[in-house]
Amino acid sequence: MIRKETILVVEDEIAILDLIAAYLRADGYIVHTAQDGNTALKQARATRPTLVILDVMLPGVDGLEVCKQLQAEQQDIYVLMLTARAEEVDKIVGLSVGADDYMTKPFSPRELVARVKAILRRRRQLSSAPGSGIIEQPELRYGDLIINPNTREVWRGGQAIDLTQREFELLHALAAQPGRVFSRDQLLERVWGTEFGRIDRVVDVHIGLLRKKLGDDPANPTLLQTIRGVGYKLVVKR
Ligand code: CA
Repeated sequence: MIRKETILVVEDEIAILDLIAAYLRADGYIVHTAQDGNTALKQARATRPTLVILDVMLPGVDGLEVCKQLQAEQQDIYVLMLTARAEEVDKIVGLSVGADDYMTKPFSPRELVARVKAILRRRRQLSSAPGSGIIEQPELRYGDLIINPNTREVWRGGQAIDLTQREFELLHALAAQPGRVFSRDQLLERVWGTEFGRIDRVVDVHIGLLRKKLGDDPANPTLLQTIRGVGYKLVVKR
């Protein structure tokens, strides 16, 4: 039996909060709400939502900080951020707060629900298997890079690397077929899902974040290489 997922909606504008909550409840989700950052964190600890819809501009602790804390506290939480301005998108992507998706206001509630479904569908594909549960996937080892898809741990040169869910999925997608060149569209589809056209830059920014965390020189990357005009590949030195 599939349990309906719990979603926490965090937004200080009551009209928007009520609208989102109403649409999600109509779709059968269990919805909790919060109107500021501190309440959001308390609610999340108490209700363990699968997904959090999180406005960036909040009184008290802002949405970016809430997102970081949620990702630090709960391993399997997904976050969809709501932004009012394009500059906030840069912050979400650039600060590596661990958001899984974002929408810029004003947005249609229908599209929001569709995005929520896309995130949750992707999660089920990742975590479910026929029968009781979990497929053991092989650990990937390339030189000093170790990727364990089961524990979602990444090691490089003996150092554990702390990645967000998207960073992990992007690295795993590339590493599952080393040497294969993936276009940005292919990576978007694998890692972000493709119900909607997404900006290419989200792939580029995440590649940049991965290079930084993995110690791959962005000016001369040896691990995550850019294929000009095409996309990216993971290069393995045997
Ligand atoms: Ca707000």
